Amino acid sequence: MRDFSYLRAGSLDEALRAAAMPATMLLAGGTTLLDLAKCGVSEPEQVVDIIHLKGLDAIRVDAEGAFIGALAKMSHVAADSAIKQQFPAVSESLWQAASAQIRNMATIGGNLLQRTRCAYFRDPATFPACNKRAPGSGCSALEGVNRGHAVLGGSDACIATYPGDLAVALVAFDAVVHLGKRKVAIDDFFLLPGATPHKEHAIKPGEMITAITIPASVAAKRSTYWKVRDRQSYEFAAASAAVGIEFEADGKTVKDLRVALGGVATKPWRARGVEDALKGKTLEPDTVKKASRLAVEGAIAHGANHYKIELAPRVVERAILKMGALA
Ligand code: FAD
Ligand code: SF4
Repeated sequence: MRDFSYLRAGSLDEALRAAAMPATMLLAGGTTLLDLAKCGVSEPEQVVDIIHLKGLDAIRVDAEGAFIGALAKMSHVAADSAIKQQFPAVSESLWQAASAQIRNMATIGGNLLQRTRCAYFRDPATFPACNKRAPGSGCSALEGVNRGHAVLGGSDACIATYPGDLAVALVAFDAVVHLGKRKVAIDDFFLLPGATPHKEHAIKPGEMITAITIPASVAAKRSTYWKVRDRQSYEFAAASAAVGIEFEADGKTVKDLRVALGGVATKPWRARGVEDALKGKTLEPDTVKKASRLAVEGAIAHGANHYKIELAPRVVERAILKMGALA
């Protein structure tokens, strides 16, 4: 880990001014940034500590939806009674993420901006080739060990999976990321790798995440987050799904359906094909099974990650049936 200067920001303005300077990184809970600095992936010259900034940790829910400050802790949001009631998938996605200790340290803004767990990305000393870390250097995963890598949204330059859970629920329910005054729909906030996998999100120099908002909806209130992983706790998703449903007045016909996938794509992945296939239908098991296959439309396997193309639709199917109370 190399030397860097440390600034404890006294105000949001001071943090934003500092964030505009080159080679500067913001420090919130530190559970990602310090790891990446230790393994030589992040090499900031200046670290700006924002965790003590006042007024950025609010959690509010009203008839319009939820407002969550960027510095709210994962554990606080997960346990918030109004979030649990109005946005169960959001709470569940956080409960199933990381460990209790990490959730108590880590913030919502930092969670969204966590970096991929691609082992090549995190080991620059052994694997110099990584387009995300060193643009133009190649991708060690394409022909390497890629069991955990993405089958959706990849490119010839990078197939790294976006690893977070919360963002999957946020994408399903059309959350908005607040970058101070500028607001970006969460689906536009995360970028596909294309030829520039080092560009991961829409934040510009001198901006930071200040909050997220999630519009209230019936589907968000009747929602769940289903996560499948190699072990039952303290593990990233092999495949996950955030699902929310609203029924017509008959209580059977799907009026609104939200489906987003985690663990299988280069960014949190909205599965609109599944949503469109089931709107106006009743949730018969065969219909749900067939529609759930559309979650992986266009998927490309790279050897060891082929199982995700089978797994993801099953996760979606289970989550939809659970919400439809047919399981
Ligand atoms: P930091 O480490 O402080 O920052 C992370 C990044 O975000 C840095 O680049 C920082 O500059 C930037 N940043 C932070 N706040 C802001 C802001 N407001 N605006 C702009 N930039 C900002 N996550 C899951 O979702 N699911 C899991 O299962 C999971 N398992 C984990 C297991 C382990 C062993 C570890 C170490 C982590 C795991 N995580 C998991 C990731 C964890 O949730 C993140 O490390 C954490 O949420 C990051 O939050 P933080 O506040 O500590 O961010
Ligand atoms: Fe790097 Fe992406 Fe290839 Fe992993 S998949 S080695 S992050 S370029």
